[in-house]
Amino acid sequence: MSYLEELFGLHGKIAVVTGGGRGIGQVVALGLAKAGAEVAIISRTGADETVGLIEQAGAKAYSLLADVTDEGAVDVALTQVVTRSGSLDILFNNAGICIHEDTLKAAVADWRQVLDINLTGEYIVARAAGRIMIEKGIKGSIINMASMSGSIVNVPQWQASYNASKAGVIHMTRSLAVEWAQYGIRVNSLSPGYIATPMSVDTPQELKDAWMPLMPYHRMGKPEELVGAVIYLAAESSGYTSGSDLLVDGAYVCQ
Ligand code: NDP
Repeated sequence: MSYLEELFGLHGKIAVVTGGGRGIGQVVALGLAKAGAEVAIISRTGADETVGLIEQAGAKAYSLLADVTDEGAVDVALTQVVTRSGSLDILFNNAGICIHEDTLKAAVADWRQVLDINLTGEYIVARAAGRIMIEKGIKGSIINMASMSGSIVNVPQWQASYNASKAGVIHMTRSLAVEWAQYGIRVNSLSPGYIATPMSVDTPQELKDAWMPLMPYHRMGKPEELVGAVIYLAAESSGYTSGSDLLVDGAYVCQ
């Protein structure tokens, strides 16, 4: 085994990626597969395209349907992973949504929906995966998708629900890291800056024009620029890293 393989290889590992049908989840699922993992992708509408890309790369993947806010459906999906693949070593807890709206005009239902998917959804999936890891004695790695919005307030768009949900993910991550250290499970969060995906590509151009001068590198990140960070957090290389929030934001938060 090469030194790089020893540090970053994921051969024999089973990874679950939520929201892996498109965007960041799709690119990271492919990256985890290329690093050696078998990948189960969970989304509401299916991930056939991602499975096709992974199979073309000569690796193994399959798609499962579940809404991350549905505790029962998540339990069924993760049980299917263990039955089919025999383990659950890595969770990339990535599914999420964003709604831009002025708080003074926003519906409370929108706040609830964002918190429900981004924070409670990640809690439900992390808890279900943690239970399996503990029951099977797996010293797994859970990577929760946060955002730089968990540390700063984006401008000029208003997105209080999203910012609050991601701040919640960062502190939930720290809490689970401490709570599950006794089982050898590591829990970290990833906080990207603006990344070009369907979520952000649909954003009005005038908003993206407003973001550009605020970004120290004057460009959005690419989903591919998150893959190494997730592999690091998933692999042996980060064996003593837990409770961390890894920013991949082109220095946005430093300003
Ligand atoms: P996309 O909209 O491109 O993809 C979101 C994915 O989440 C889709 O696969 C979607 O699949 C899935 N999803 C959404 N809601 C649910 C649900 N209730 N249950 C199951 N799956 C769900 O978003 P991105 O790739 O841009 O974002 C991915 C994550 O990264 C999010 O958590 C986001 O907050 C975070 N992030 C994104 C940034 C960006 O600039 N793009 C920056 C920082 C963080 P389906 O609809 O089929 O269920």
